[in-house]
Parts: sequence; C-alpha cells; structure tokens
Amino acid sequence: MIDRQLRRRGIQDEKVLSAMFEVPRHEFVPAVYREAAYDDCPIAIGEGQTISQPYIVAAMTEAARIEPGDKALEIGTGSGYQAAILAHLGARVITMERNPWLAATARERLVRLGYGGIQVIAEDGSGGYAAGAPYAAILVTAAAPKVPQVLFDQLDDGGRLVIPVGTLHQQVLELISKHGDKASVCDLDPCQFVPLIGKEGWPEGVR
Ligand code: SAH
Repeated sequence: MIDRQLRRRGIQDEKVLSAMFEVPRHEFVPAVYREAAYDDCPIAIGEGQTISQPYIVAAMTEAARIEPGDKALEIGTGSGYQAAILAHLGARVITMERNPWLAATARERLVRLGYGGIQVIAEDGSGGYAAGAPYAAILVTAAAPKVPQVLFDQLDDGGRLVIPVGTLHQQVLELISKHGDKASVCDLDPCQFVPLIGKEGWPEGVR
C-alpha cells in the first residue's frame, strides 16, 4: 500500500507515510472485508458509508500539514481511521459524525486501539464545532456542495481546510489556507465522497 498506492502517486511526507504504515487499517473495516483492508479502494463500513481509499486519506493528511500539538477537526468520523491517522501524527483531534451508530462504534474502536484521546461528537458537523475553535486544520471527509464559510471562520491564522467540493457524484479535493482574513485555494485531486448531509451540506435523502 505504502509504495504502490501512496509513494508512486506522489505522497512524499515521510511522517504521513509512516503513520499510514503504523495505524492498523484492517481494524477499521468490517471483519468480512479484512483481507481487502489495504486494497486501492474505499470499503463499505455500514449505514451506507465508506472508509476512504488509502491514497485519499494520505493526500488529505499531507495537505493538512499536521504538526504535533495542532488542534484538528475532522467532519465525518466514519470508521475513525482518518482521525486515528491525525492523532498518530500528534494532533489533538475532535471528530464529528452525524450517524449515532457509526459514532459509537468508532469511539469504542478508537479507545480499544489506544486512541482514547480523540473526542468523537455525534452531531451534524457541517457547521464545524465552534466550542473547540480555532483549529490548525479542518478535514471534511464527506462531499460538500460548497465550502461552508463557517468552517473557514473556525480556522486559526495559517490554518488549512481540506474539503471535497462539487456535485453528489464527483468532487475536487480543495485545500483552503487562511492568511489573516484572506484565503488561498488549491485544487488537489478529483475524488468521490459520500455526501455531507446537514445544515451546511446536502439535504437528507439525497443520493
Ligand atoms: N473519515 C472516515 C470516512 C468518512 S465517510 C473514515 O476514516 O472512515 C463520511 C462520513 O461522514 C459518514 O460516516 C457520514 O455519516 C458522515 N457525515 C455525513 N454528513 C455529516 C455531517 N454533516 N456531520 C458529521 N458527519 C457527517
């Protein structure tokens, strides 16, 4: 996975590569898919949701430029894998999940694997989590129709927002960096995420 899927496609940050090597991805997928855990694809995790393809996790993490001690917010906990990668890099992580079963399952799994410091909040995270702001990095791991201004507002000066933006079926991974009240935007990769459902996302029931 590390050489064929990540290095070969341009992931260079050695700290990200070693986090992806060390965090046991097979613990984050349902037992029936365990053998496919390191394959080059997303995997169903229940409730119609997926754990992202390894390359996309690595690309988002690299773009977020996590330093130890950074406060990071993830929106879309899913299995908890992306949150564990951020914590492994030394971030103080808050992650939000609107599906109560996924939130509870991820929380339990993260504690069992030694990532009990991650705060899992079972709520619509499309508007971020103002109580924990400002963040050095915000990662949205579900597809948004537009960049919610409220997420940009919750970034620290110098902060990075990584978010897939587009239609329900095709998005571009965008990196938005905050410099004072100015933003710089960089398009990273084409991608396909499940929808961000909620106040600042898509309405419930979209497909
Ligand atoms: N990052 C996850 C995969 C994300 S899948 C991992 O590492 O496994 C996207 C997740 O976003 C789904 O679990 C979905 O329920 C959740 N989601 C969608 N809209 C949301 C919202 N408004 N707030 C919080 N979570 C949301």
